[in-house]
Amino acid sequence: MEQIVRNTIEALKKNHFDVKYFETSKEAVDELLIEIKQEESVGIGGSMTIKNLELDRLLLERGNTVHWHWLETTPERMDQARGAAAAADVYLTSTNALTQDGKIVNTDGVGNRVAAMFYGPKKTIIVCGINKIAENLDGAMERIEKNAYKNARRLKLNTPCAVNENCSDCSSPQRMCNITTIIRKKPMKKDITIILINEELGY
Ligand code: SF4
Repeated sequence: MEQIVRNTIEALKKNHFDVKYFETSKEAVDELLIEIKQEESVGIGGSMTIKNLELDRLLLERGNTVHWHWLETTPERMDQARGAAAAADVYLTSTNALTQDGKIVNTDGVGNRVAAMFYGPKKTIIVCGINKIAENLDGAMERIEKNAYKNARRLKLNTPCAVNENCSDCSSPQRMCNITTIIRKKPMKKDITIILINEELGY
């Protein structure tokens, strides 16, 4: 394990987050399917990492109730899924960044994902690759701005970053970057587990 990863894990633990490290996605997914009980309902936040690991499918196939707006096809049903996810037993998501001093940093457009990370479901599980580690808060914001255009393109948004790959702190009606949260330490009424994988996952 690289020293930067080791330092980040230690700092996260000092901030009272539970951290589990895995060399491969396969090992992480196996652990997740033990960590999340079959009888628990699972809300999922928008996440390419969760999608690429097919955790929604694996959970549904073995009988979990899953609430994920990415599985819905109408705006109304997507809103319902966001609401149900916020009331689930477990909230499963990734993160935009982790800092080497142990903070969890995220930027959202709607805000359902960041809110459910610190309030609502009793437990949040964050699954992420080591590519999400940033040196500090400035580095976290830099990584978020640098990668935002990928989401803009995926969502076919009409934003400047979708065209030129750079953030111009736009005022577009379709702006995605409306709420930024820093979870500095474990929230009072929430357990947060970080499943850190020694791979590049999501963006
Ligand atoms: S603020 Fe606007 S330009 Fe910058 S990343 Fe967000 S949507 Fe793109």
